[in-house]
Order: sequence, then C-alpha cells, then structure tokens
Amino acid sequence: MALDDLYRDVILDHYAHPRNRGRLDPRDITAEGANPLCGDELTLFVRLDGDRVAAIRFEGRGCSISQASASMMTEAVAGKTLEEVRALVDAFRAMMHGGAPAAALGDLVALQGVRKFPVRVKCATLPWVTLEQGLDDAAAGRPATTVTTDTRE
Ligand code: ZN
Repeated sequence: MALDDLYRDVILDHYAHPRNRGRLDPRDITAEGANPLCGDELTLFVRLDGDRVAAIRFEGRGCSISQASASMMTEAVAGKTLEEVRALVDAFRAMMHGGAPAAALGDLVALQGVRKFPVRVKCATLPWVTLEQGLDDAAAGRPATTVTTDTRE
C-alpha cells in the first residue's frame, strides 16, 4: 500500500494543524454529517455575507483524511460566492470519482491519491457533501438535516 500517496505531506499538515477549527457565532448555517463506514463526524458552521461565504469553521472527529479534507475545504471556500462554492463541490466530487482535477481545486489535488483506496473516498467527500446539504437546507429555508455518506455522495 502506497502510504506516501495516501498521506501526502499536505494532508498530514492539515490534520496536525487544522485550519478554521472551532465554532462560529453568529452563523447562518449549521450542517452536520457523518460517514458511518469509518466513524467520521463533522459539524460545519458558516457565516454568510450576502451570497458570499464570510467565514467557515468546523468541528469533528475521525480519520486523518476526513479531518484534513475539512480543513482544506474551509480554506478553499472562504470568501467565495455560493455559486463558486457549489462549482468547487462539484469539481471535488468529480475528482474523487475519477475525473481529472480542475485547476480551481489547487492544493485539494493532494486528496486525489485517496482514490486508490475506494473505502476512504467517503472520508474525503464527507465535508463536501455536508456543506452542500447545508447550502441546500438554507436555500430551501428548512431546518438543517444531518447528512450521511450512505445517502449522499
Ligand atoms: Zn474516515
């Protein structure tokens, strides 16, 4: 098993030194997600400024892949418009399911090594499907639903 591919330096750095970890008050969106396959759990807190992500933080526990992906995601989406965020979610999902990585993904390309370990792909996508669910719930004006990687990927 090519551990050097799975645990690239950038992933380990985000796991050891997570960015934007913690709660956020006030906030506009709270989204919870879980990946039962691995036991990963995540809560996202998002503050909006119009249609832009003004701030985003996360709390959670789980494997290094899920936590590093959450950390990297918060850096990638902060300051972006909701339309840009959704495009990034789509690009990340496409990469994790075998597509060529879009340039907009930047450092997130480090996570494509996880594709070699299909059982871990949902660890990487958990933060992204959680964010997408949170945006959908907020847009629909309904209470936050907890997403699991069994039902949304
Ligand atoms: Zn995991």
